[in-house]
Amino acid sequence: MNCDEFAELVTAFLDDALDSSSRPLFLDHMAVCGGCAGYYGRFTATITALGELPAPGLSPQTRSRLLTAFRETSAENSE
Ligand SMILES: [Zn+2]
Repeated sequence: MNCDEFAELVTAFLDDALDSSSRPLFLDHMAVCGGCAGYYGRFTATITALGELPAPGLSPQTRSRLLTAFRETSAENSE
């Protein structure tokens, strides 16, 4: 798994929607890649800040709202 794949799978992981073959690859990548571990940490922090629990069954609307909020947070942090 590379970093782009990791980023694409973060919401699926939080949604408990990763299949049994992708899940260990996702966790392995987070264990060895500091950048993605940080990305995951910021993502979950954003969810917490919004008061959204990473529960199974995130609606597409909630998912896109989280992604938008996360991108805004990341942009602020990079300044
Ligand atoms: Zn990575």
